[in-house]
Amino acid sequence: MSSGARWSISSARLETQLQDRKPIYSTWEATAEAGRCLYCHDAPCIPACPTTIDIPTFIHKIATGNLRGSARTILKSNLLGLSCARVCPVEVLCEGACVYGGWQRPPITIGRLQRYAMEHGGARGLLPKAKRSGRTVGLVGAGPASLACAGTLARFGHTAVIYERDDLPGGLNTTGIAPYKLQADDALEEIRFIKSLGVEFQTGVELGKDVSVDELLERHDALFLGPGLGPDSCLGVPGEEGPGVYGAIEWIRRLKLTPTFSVEGIDRAFVVGGGNTAVDVARELAGLGVGRVTLLYRRPAEKMKAYAHELAQARQEGVVVVTETAVAEVFRDAGTLAGIRLVESENGRPTDRDFGIEKADLMVVAIGQTKLRELVEMFPSVECDESGCIAIDPDTGATGNPRIFAGGDAVNGGKEVVNAVHDGQVAARSMDDLLREAPAGRREDG
Ligand code: SF4
Repeated sequence: MSSGARWSISSARLETQLQDRKPIYSTWEATAEAGRCLYCHDAPCIPACPTTIDIPTFIHKIATGNLRGSARTILKSNLLGLSCARVCPVEVLCEGACVYGGWQRPPITIGRLQRYAMEHGGARGLLPKAKRSGRTVGLVGAGPASLACAGTLARFGHTAVIYERDDLPGGLNTTGIAPYKLQADDALEEIRFIKSLGVEFQTGVELGKDVSVDELLERHDALFLGPGLGPDSCLGVPGEEGPGVYGAIEWIRRLKLTPTFSVEGIDRAFVVGGGNTAVDVARELAGLGVGRVTLLYRRPAEKMKAYAHELAQARQEGVVVVTETAVAEVFRDAGTLAGIRLVESENGRPTDRDFGIEKADLMVVAIGQTKLRELVEMFPSVECDESGCIAIDPDTGATGNPRIFAGGDAVNGGKEVVNAVHDGQVAARSMDDLLREAPAGRREDG
């Protein structure tokens, strides 16, 4: 168990070989771009941001050289303003709503300006701390939802203790974001800012083994569940388990954190899936110099969940997209991945029409993650919906237990970092109301 004084990672990580696709602006670039903003009165970019950052105000502060003030404006609405600047799909959020788009002109590059403000304005010492309330909240999982929730609770004066099974905090922000958007050391630096607000971290702590649900309920006035999702889902085809085949989350984690991980010797790689994670993995492989990268999707292209702009970029980078095709079997030669049998897929289901065997050195399966239903149901009166997601009141984050709140991927099934931040901050405000109204001490469970 660790209190998180040091979260060290190797500097020899494969992810460091991938270039930042949207490098930070120079002062000249940022000032010129900020000067283009019209500071619209009914700025449509604000409601398009799930955390409703006051975008015109932070941009105006960049234009006037007030970078500390700009960063403060961002953090007041979104404590993970740095990682959101780097990973948000701004094309379909704030920038997609910018008035310039209606005039067929390039929108203000809000994401890059936000990054400029956060990296130059800094974060530490910008937000005032409230008087200690004497109340305490335990948070399960150290992903973006819990980080945002814990940081907000700390700002309200409550003690916030995060319990994380992994040795590193951050969830997918640290282990799962495409390196050309955000690398693990930057994610950890943002978490150190959350820690500086007074949040306590206990990493390497497994629920049910190192600490029980009863102990958490005894120690804390309220709990927040932000455990994220479980391991990668499998295709369930013969030969899938074994060398050369990875789940996407497992593969990205190795790329980002394992110093000895390499793509040397891989010439032919297949990525299975049609979502943003599948596209990220395919682009990473192409960026690392793998000769031929194919994205396999079982339905027609128009059904792909990946963002169109990212899919187009993947194609430009050399990724070949093959649709209505499924993997039927995986073959190995002397224990090494040798090939995969492809078949036609109709309505998402494999048919008998055999496309033959393709040579393969690597296959990454990016078809989603399992749900942590068993973990969630350890908590009294907390229920899952039919899909295995935690059922909450979306206005408050409350579960069926009045002392337990939830948010993030475990609730929405897997969305953007900014959605998790929104969930965490909504739950923190609800918990603040609860903790200020109710008398101190342990309450009966609902
Ligand atoms: Fe600036 Fe565009 Fe937002 Fe208007 S909509 S305030 S121009 S970023």
